[in-house]
Amino acid sequence: MRPIDTLLRSLDIVEDEAYLERKLKDNGRFAARLYLFGAFLGLSLWGWDYVTDPIGAKRTWTLRLFFLVLAVIPLLFKKIESRRLLTICVVGLTLMTEIVYLLILNRLEGGMVYGLAGFMFYMMVPSLAFVAFSFLSGLIYILLAALLPHLLAMTGIVPGFSHLHYAVLIWPAAILSVLIEYTHTQEYRRRYTLERKLETLSQVDALSGLCNRRCFFQKLEEEVARSRRTDLPLSILMVDIDRFKAINDRYGHPVGDRVIQRLATVMKGSSRRIDTVARVGGEEFALLLPGTDLVAAVEAGERIRSAVACSELVTDRGERIAYTISVGAARWHTREKPSQCYNRADRALYLAKKGGRNRVVSLQA
Ligand code: GH3
Ligand code: MG
Ligand code: MG
Repeated sequence: MRPIDTLLRSLDIVEDEAYLERKLKDNGRFAARLYLFGAFLGLSLWGWDYVTDPIGAKRTWTLRLFFLVLAVIPLLFKKIESRRLLTICVVGLTLMTEIVYLLILNRLEGGMVYGLAGFMFYMMVPSLAFVAFSFLSGLIYILLAALLPHLLAMTGIVPGFSHLHYAVLIWPAAILSVLIEYTHTQEYRRRYTLERKLETLSQVDALSGLCNRRCFFQKLEEEVARSRRTDLPLSILMVDIDRFKAINDRYGHPVGDRVIQRLATVMKGSSRRIDTVARVGGEEFALLLPGTDLVAAVEAGERIRSAVACSELVTDRGERIAYTISVGAARWHTREKPSQCYNRADRALYLAKKGGRNRVVSLQA
């Protein structure tokens, strides 16, 4: 592990790819607006130049126009796909306007004294925008923004610069900005963790650990969209435990629950990673099979049916419970809604029940 990662971990900052993508998605709009307003603030502060030095202000308006670069940043949010590249551009462009700001102050009579406080904007405002990026990039930005005027002054470009005046004003502001950045990061992490937990809870069935009904229909929409793009087949299996009520009545509800869990394990075990196994009702399950036509779907259903028929569940009291399932199969057709395919699989299941249970029935569109 890199030393910087160790440091971040010790500060309780863990930022993986998915987290950073989400951070940008959630906060990008806010950051973009901040930059847009920042651009107009930078422009309008020409008024301040004029009040402090009307003659010098004649030499600063062209430089003030450079602040429009900040208004370009929000456009980059939409155009640049790579998060890393976007971060580099945002940092680079913001620092460039800082250089221009320093040149503006240098053209004004007393600018280096009046204008020093303006550098605090370079600490505080972008550190708010960096809530859309990683903590590390925010930290690097703040350090660079604080150091840059010192470095430029050392090159002799800005002769009137007072390191001491600047330092006593800006470095405490930089420390405060790091603190703001840190607090934001912690706050966002807390929200992210909570949201992920809620998302999982809203998608997972508590008893079986499978995808729930809501999650199944979401996946169905996604897979239908994919099949439309790829032209690959897509099938649905509907599974229902036979005479489950009798199992509940005879052995009790907790044993019934274990049967549901066992079936969930069997279905999960006999499906591929790309399949979606869901509990869509009390003792009803659905299996979404991408890239599978009706013949292969029936074969898959048959595999699960016979695996269940051959297995037994032994209760704590040593009772052996044999149970069976009925399966309905349907293939999605390009011109139909996802729900039409689901309903057909359900009708096929009904026919399987009617036909004597413990069987797989398919229905053509
Ligand atoms: P069929 O072969 O026609 O499907 O008969 P069945 O008895 O399985 O069908 P029915 O729909 O009449 O009964 C389903 C039963 O499933 C009724 C309900 O009490 C039970 N059930 C639903 N959810 C749960 C659950 O979470 N746990 C348990 N143990 N039972 C449940
Ligand atoms: Mg049933
Ligand atoms: Mg049922």
